[in-house]
Amino acid sequence: MGLYNYLLLKGLQPIVVSPTDYGDFLKWMPGEPTVIDFEAETDHSASLIAHADLIFCLDFNALKRINQMGELVAASKAKKVIIDHHLEPENFAAYQLHNTQRSSTCELIYEMIDLFGDADLVNEDIANCLYAGIMTDTASFKHGSTYPSTHHVAAQLLAKGAKPNLIYEHIYDNYSFDRMRFIGFCLNEKMQLLREFNTALICVTADELKRYNIITGDTEGLVNYGLAIRDINFSVLIVDRTVARKMSFRSKGKFPANEFAKTYFSGGGHFNAAGGESHDAIEIVETKFKEALAAYKHLLI
Ligand code: 5GP
Repeated sequence: MGLYNYLLLKGLQPIVVSPTDYGDFLKWMPGEPTVIDFEAETDHSASLIAHADLIFCLDFNALKRINQMGELVAASKAKKVIIDHHLEPENFAAYQLHNTQRSSTCELIYEMIDLFGDADLVNEDIANCLYAGIMTDTASFKHGSTYPSTHHVAAQLLAKGAKPNLIYEHIYDNYSFDRMRFIGFCLNEKMQLLREFNTALICVTADELKRYNIITGDTEGLVNYGLAIRDINFSVLIVDRTVARKMSFRSKGKFPANEFAKTYFSGGGHFNAAGGESHDAIEIVETKFKEALAAYKHLLI
């Protein structure tokens, strides 16, 4: 939404298409009501993608990450721009601003605006959106991916009017009661400690999601709790989503979460924060996960 608001100011006609729905905690962002959910408006999105002049691909660099939308982006005659900080970008873009030494895509978007000589155009709306992206991707400036450049950009955004307390409240103090109870349930009844591997695991079934009325975005952050336990170096969340079993991996220290995700669960991401998916039943995914751990034991203890 930060890029959207910037492009609007430049007199262009940006349209944001999201590959899926997203959490309510993002719905305060200026311009958000114009966002098109690809899954809800597939035909309309397909037409927009086919007729676009330029397509910005933000925060991913492999077209399969945006599911079915990826094929449409590949087929579109529009020039593509990747702005991203994940490893190993695919080679489908005419232009790319790619740097793995940046906290977040939002940090890079500010860098791009600045490179264009447009830092003065960054108003409070744009600053709030970009600050939110940096804050969430660094888990409030605590991940190792918090670089000097990150604080530098955050400082510029604050100077331009970003409101850190309000952004924090919108994003983190915005739980439904169901979501809060769901977290309690997961921590109390679902978390397994695999002591032998210094690993914490939570598997959530589709029934459990339904029981607590869990909507997109509500499981965000749940995987981090495992790492808060002393000596736990690897925390994993497996969620039974309708189309696939989605997995989130978070690690500390020398455990390569992205390599593990890529090797066993068609995934990827960052060294200490990665994800993957499987089309097996959740019980099978759980078993496969536990078997896979054995190969990595030496990096976990
Ligand atoms: P999360 O667990 O928050 O969904 O994702 C953590 C990190 O892993 C993010 O940087 C995200 O882009 C990446 N990631 C999540 N799922 C996948 C996946 O299936 N494939 C790849 N390549 N990266 C993923």
